[in-house]
Parts: sequence; C-alpha cells; structure tokens
Amino acid sequence: MKRQRVYSFLLIALCLCTTCIAKAPKYVFYFIGDGMGLNQVMSTQYYLKQCEGELGITPLGFAQFPYTGIATSYSGSSDVTDSAAGGTALATGCKTANGVIGMLTDKQTPAISIAQMAHDYGARVGVTTSVTINHATPSSFYAHQKSRNDYYEIGLQLPVSGFEFFAGGSLAENTNPDDKSAPKLYDVIEEAGYTIVRGYDEYQKLVDADKVVLIQKDAAAAKEDAIPYAIDAREGDLTLEQITEAAIDHLYDKRHKKGFFLMVEGGKIDYACHANDAAAMFLETVNFDNAIQIAYEFYKQHPKETLIVITADHETGGFTLGTGSYALNFSALQYQKVSKAGFSRIINQLRHDTKDNVSWEQIKAALKENFGFWDTVKLSERDEKALYEEYQRSFTGDKKVQMAESLYFRDEPISALAVKIIDRIAMVSWPITSHSAAYVPVFAVGNGAEQFVGQMNNIDIPMKIAKIAGYKK
Ligand SMILES: [Zn+2]
Repeated sequence: MKRQRVYSFLLIALCLCTTCIAKAPKYVFYFIGDGMGLNQVMSTQYYLKQCEGELGITPLGFAQFPYTGIATSYSGSSDVTDSAAGGTALATGCKTANGVIGMLTDKQTPAISIAQMAHDYGARVGVTTSVTINHATPSSFYAHQKSRNDYYEIGLQLPVSGFEFFAGGSLAENTNPDDKSAPKLYDVIEEAGYTIVRGYDEYQKLVDADKVVLIQKDAAAAKEDAIPYAIDAREGDLTLEQITEAAIDHLYDKRHKKGFFLMVEGGKIDYACHANDAAAMFLETVNFDNAIQIAYEFYKQHPKETLIVITADHETGGFTLGTGSYALNFSALQYQKVSKAGFSRIINQLRHDTKDNVSWEQIKAALKENFGFWDTVKLSERDEKALYEEYQRSFTGDKKVQMAESLYFRDEPISALAVKIIDRIAMVSWPITSHSAAYVPVFAVGNGAEQFVGQMNNIDIPMKIAKIAGYKK
C-alpha cells in the first residue's frame, strides 16, 4: 500500500512538473481568409464533393483541425465591419471605426499589433497576402493610419516595422499621389535595407537577404496589383502557397530561440465574393487551404512548438447555399474556367482583335469555352435570350458599353450576366455585393489550439495568441 502511495505521489508530481514546464509555441501561423464566412467554407466542401459526382462534403484540410469556434466581426463603428476595422481587430485586439488601420476609434491612438508584440518579444515576423501588401488586412499588422485609402503613407510605414518578411501581389500607389516628387515606395523600402524579390523563381535564387519583400514578377506591368485569382492563374504566377513556403524558408531558423510569427491573408476570397463569383470564390478557398497545408506540414515536423489559427475578418456577399428548391447544383461551376474579371479581359481582347466588331458567334464560342454554356451546362430559353439581348446592347448599335461595377472591378456586362446565370444554375445566391455581419469561423491546431473553441469576439483571437505565445504589449 505504502509503495503504491509513493508511486501515486510521484506520478502527480511528474504531471504537475510537466504542466509547469509546458513551453509556449515558438512558431505561430495566423491565417485570415478575407470575406471567408462559414458558408464560404461549407459551400467549397459541397462543391468539391459534387465535382466527384456525389452528395455530401469533401472536407478542406483546415476544416478538419481539432479545435473549432465561431467569432463575431462587428467593428467599433458598425455591426457590419469593413476590412480595415476587421483587420485591426484581428491584428491588435482593439475595435476601431470602419476605415481605420491600427488605431483606436479616436483615429489617433496607435493600437499595437500582435506582429509588433511578437517582434518586440524577439520572434522573426512575416506579414503576407494575395492582394497588395498595403491593403487593409496586412497593413493592420504594421501601420497606423486613419484611412485605409492612404496607401502611400501606409507603405512608408512598412520598413519602419523592421519585420523580416513581407509578401503580396505588389504595393498599391508606389508614387505619392499628392506629391509626384516624393520618393517612390519601393525605393524607400530598399534604402531601409529590404531586398525586393520579384517572383518565386527569383526568391529561390536569393542568397543571404536580411529582410525581404516578395512581390509578383511583373508587378509594374500587371493591370491588377493583387496576385491573379487561382481560377485565372497561369504558369509562373506567384501563388499563396509559394508565399507561405518562402515565408517559412526565410523566417525559420532552428538556432533562433524565439521562433517566428507569420500572418497569411487569403485576400482574394473577398474579391470573388464582392464580385458575386462563386466559382472564383471556391477555387480561392481551396487555394487558401493549400497554403494552410504548407503550414500544417511544418506543424507535423514541430508539433509541440507550433500553433496554427485560421479565421476571417468578416463574411462577404451574404452567400447562401440554395435558391429555394431543396437542391444544390454546384458541380455546374466546374465548367467555369475564368473569373468574371478574367472573362471581361477575354471580351476586351475580342473587342481589340476585331476592332470592336465582335459577332454573336464569337461571343457564343467564348461563353461555351469558358462557362460550358450550350454544351455541358444547358441554358434555358430565357437565359439564352438574356445573353443575346446583352450582346446586342454591348456590341451593336452605338456600342456605348455600361461596365458592371463591383468593388474591385469594372466588368463587361456580358461577363457579369454569364456569372449571374451560372450561379443561378448552380443554385447559389448572393443577396449583397458587400460585407455582412455573419459569424466567421475559427479553426486551430497545435500548442494552445484548445483555447479557440466556442463563441469568441474577434478581438479575443489575437489576445489569446499573444498570451499563449508569451508576447506582451
Ligand atoms: Zn475584409
């Protein structure tokens, strides 16, 4: 009996001791799917299963992480947040007014971000995105600006952070719009000791760079500053997976005791939702998952030292799974080969090639090739009539085209109509083209992940991460 008691005592002492010395995670990944509400995640899983010809879901990798919660997204000025206030909440643990980056609602007091806290703690820090590096979400991690639209001023704050790694499509507003003689952003950043790397190939050839800003190869020539949608991507385009790989490669150093903190934003999920383009959104969410899988592979090699948290800043589009008839037909969207913006570019090229004398046969061929219309996706008489009437309006007569506008794009009306028709055929619906106040999901795996369960306020998420990792304000 006595001996048994001694063993029990020793066992309890050992457990207590293990608890005392449980170490904080050294490596923290923070993934933010911009605009990625619960339905964006859920619908992508239905879509993947329907493409296999079956009912049910094919789970995304991150959706299978062991700890799951939901978060609110309201801002300091509205129940419906914008990406600046949403990003600031997720970066700093402070609610602010819509439009404000890294400041309190007084638009003066700076709010310290978790990236800054991690850097002060001694961790190496990366801030990355698939859109521009001075867009609302990433800038909330390194800048303090009363308006998210002050891209140039936000960009000037990038090198001040001293963070080791930045990546994205490019920087918006390289030139100061108010003073053309002011130094260009890329020059300021280079002079501050950053190496600007253009494209993943160039990154792979890089030797011994202290601080890196990775952007897409042809950023200056690209009409769009963000990296292309996954659905439109061509060989050689920078991807979110490559960005995540490069970030880990640059930030990880096993001799560095304080590890790293890396934020990765899937920024174009939001763009696709603003454009009400379901196929583009599904592939963007899959792409986001692929980037997370790179982090998950890292976690598997360092399970006790790694924490991965995934969430969103808000939901976009009020996206709904179903149109009223107890069915989904998401598999139709596998025949959509380009985004709404991508099809607009194809139409623009046709206009250019034909000197604006595009025939209905050419439009039909383009619709068939890029949406499967008349072929794998059957059109009703009403839809065909609507497309033909739009063709007549847009391409014949006085040819004064009214571009269909969404937040980030001006689309050809025939492109906007084609996406609207295929989304209706797929039985998805989009009540709005802006943000909603819906719940956003939280998923976590790794050291400390058990704390990300239940309903959370968005501002709790960075504070929990900071506490778990030992970062202090
Ligand atoms: Zn957003």
